[in-house]
Amino acid sequence: MARTDIGPPHYEQFLPPVIKENYGKWKYHEILKPGVLKHVGETGEIYSVRVGSARLLTIDRIEEYCQLADKYCDGYLRFTSRNNVEFLVSDPAKVEPLLAELKEKGFPVGGTGNALNNIIHTQGWVHCHSAATDASGIVKAVMDELYEYFVDMKLPAKLKISLACCLNMCGAVHCSDIAILGIHRTPPKIQHEWVAKQCEIPTVVASCPTGAIRPNPKEKSVVVNEEKCMYCGNCYTMCPAMPIADPENDGVAILVGGKVSNARTVPMFSRLAIPYLPNNPPRWPEVTQAIRKLVEVWVQNARPGERYGEWIERIGWEAFFKIADLPFTDKHIDDFIFSVPTFRTSAQFKF
Ligand code: SF4
Ligand code: SF4
Repeated sequence: MARTDIGPPHYEQFLPPVIKENYGKWKYHEILKPGVLKHVGETGEIYSVRVGSARLLTIDRIEEYCQLADKYCDGYLRFTSRNNVEFLVSDPAKVEPLLAELKEKGFPVGGTGNALNNIIHTQGWVHCHSAATDASGIVKAVMDELYEYFVDMKLPAKLKISLACCLNMCGAVHCSDIAILGIHRTPPKIQHEWVAKQCEIPTVVASCPTGAIRPNPKEKSVVVNEEKCMYCGNCYTMCPAMPIADPENDGVAILVGGKVSNARTVPMFSRLAIPYLPNNPPRWPEVTQAIRKLVEVWVQNARPGERYGEWIERIGWEAFFKIADLPFTDKHIDDFIFSVPTFRTSAQFKF
């Protein structure tokens, strides 16, 4: 096989020996306490200590993680897709000393079992051009608000919260228990004098998923049919002369009830609960309070083991809106052209 320098090195060379030896031979795993997992294989066991971390880290923090991994884990740690760092401890005698040092340093250990896992999120204002809200900032504010649910396992079931800073949804919020979604609410503003200079018009027309853009030969520019625009920002990706960010109207929508898991019930898409909350940096109080309330109604009303969407499916969406004290408005009715397959087609309602 030709050796090239394309792509990352094969992950196998970074696996702790016990994981390599037990590849495909795991017998079971258990959660010993919040944030501490024990995996048992045919020829050994390994402990994972999960620490809530962040997507944006200083090199000092990474250095600190590496020093802890050298001290307790023979250098082995991994980052999870939910931005946790997991210390992979092969020696059982080192688990408690590691936990003690993590506590001393103020690193939160948790996120396992019936707990809130860390929030998976996108790039936000720090990096992406089409963000309708921030990502890391709002996630930090929400996790601070819900800290008690990360470090304990007192929830009815797992709770996964996700954030995507626009509806292109790099954060896969469509299948999370609670989704924070950045939304634009106005169409792109076309800077006609720049379109011809900066953009390829056929590419811009083709970039619109709803076919809302057509050429405007008179102005050597384009025109947007605002009725068809779903404020996705794809055209801005192709054409910098069509900015969509709007400080007055951009904000956040909250969706609930999604899950990827096949356990108990089929996977579910999340659905709109709160159509709009304002961007209010740096701590987004409206969003953090709304999410705390949504979590609390679930905690108070769900049966043990019931994920957010499973609870709503049991009591009915009508009852959910009532219990959560959320107004049902015209904004909750999906009248988009591709929404037909999602319509409820039965006459059954659960009040
Ligand atoms: Fe950019 Fe949208 Fe992805 Fe956020 S969700 S990083 S705005 S494309
Ligand atoms: Fe089309 Fe999206 Fe641009 Fe609207 S924002 S015109 S839907 S590409």
